Amino acid sequence: MKVSFKELGLVNTREMFAKAVKGGYAIPAFNFNNMEQLQAIIQASAETKSPVILQVSKGARNYANQTLLRYMAQGAVEYAKELGWKKPQIALHLDHGDSYELCKSCVDFGFSSVMIDASSLPYEENVKLTRKVVNYAHKYDVTVEAELGVLAGVEDEVASEVSHYTKPEEVIDFVKKTKCDSLAISIGTSHGAYKFTPEQCTRDPQTGRLVPPPLAFDVLKAIEKKLPGFPIVLHGSSSVPQEYVDMCNQYGGKLPNAVGIPEEQLRKAAKSAVCKINIDSDSRLAMTGAIRKHLAENPGHFDPRQYLKPAREEMKKMYVHKIVNVLGSNGKAR
Ligand SMILES: [Zn+2]
Repeated sequence: MKVSFKELGLVNTREMFAKAVKGGYAIPAFNFNNMEQLQAIIQASAETKSPVILQVSKGARNYANQTLLRYMAQGAVEYAKELGWKKPQIALHLDHGDSYELCKSCVDFGFSSVMIDASSLPYEENVKLTRKVVNYAHKYDVTVEAELGVLAGVEDEVASEVSHYTKPEEVIDFVKKTKCDSLAISIGTSHGAYKFTPEQCTRDPQTGRLVPPPLAFDVLKAIEKKLPGFPIVLHGSSSVPQEYVDMCNQYGGKLPNAVGIPEEQLRKAAKSAVCKINIDSDSRLAMTGAIRKHLAENPGHFDPRQYLKPAREEMKKMYVHKIVNVLGSNGKAR
């Protein structure tokens, strides 16, 4: 049975991106796979009155079941209202759609936004497939994110060993031909909790921590110049907070040399044409760190609520921090 995202109380990303580009902030795109993550995202967004994009990857859709996800998103809108958020602006977005059929199925299932990631294909094929998805999605007012350039790193089914920066000379032609609504670019961000090898980093002499190479802001600037006001998306933008990595490692985990994108750099990006910043690994780390700590300190606990509650609280704290201190999207959806 087909359902429109509008019936579920969701919004597409068109208006939120237009406002974000003008206002110099970015919309958080948080991935979710389960109820606790969703609760934490909605609590943080409702409390800060921030528009939010709920992201579901192909892997998450298989993990949680597509029907359940649809009603969870609808439930999220109602829950947000219950929390006192009068006009929740919540989008349900497919992260890294890899085929026309998957994107179409998400449009039919109530998603308000889809990504078609054909960035690993030759340029002309990327254009063709993206255009096909846009043609279908726009019939139902669903917005489409496309990608040019290749990110390094591993995230669910998406994996690449090397990155290729987006070529600024291609973006005008690509956007014109595909009519996509936003564009994910590659400027040095990367998927997962191991964004850079120690060899790519320098070391902070005081803390001994790895310091990753800076993002290619010159490429971002060149793209902005070609497409003034056009919504740009950054994938792989977790910061991999060292407190969570330490928490995992202190209580039996093994995450050596996990490193992410420094928050100052994301803050700088959020003020530019970048209007959507994807954060997934940070939530995974907050959840796992909190669960490990709780179980280590309370070896007799076996009720999932006992360890999922502190995990949910830790994720919420992290989401609020991102919204207020990194993206600047608080108070933008009253
Ligand atoms: Zn991604």
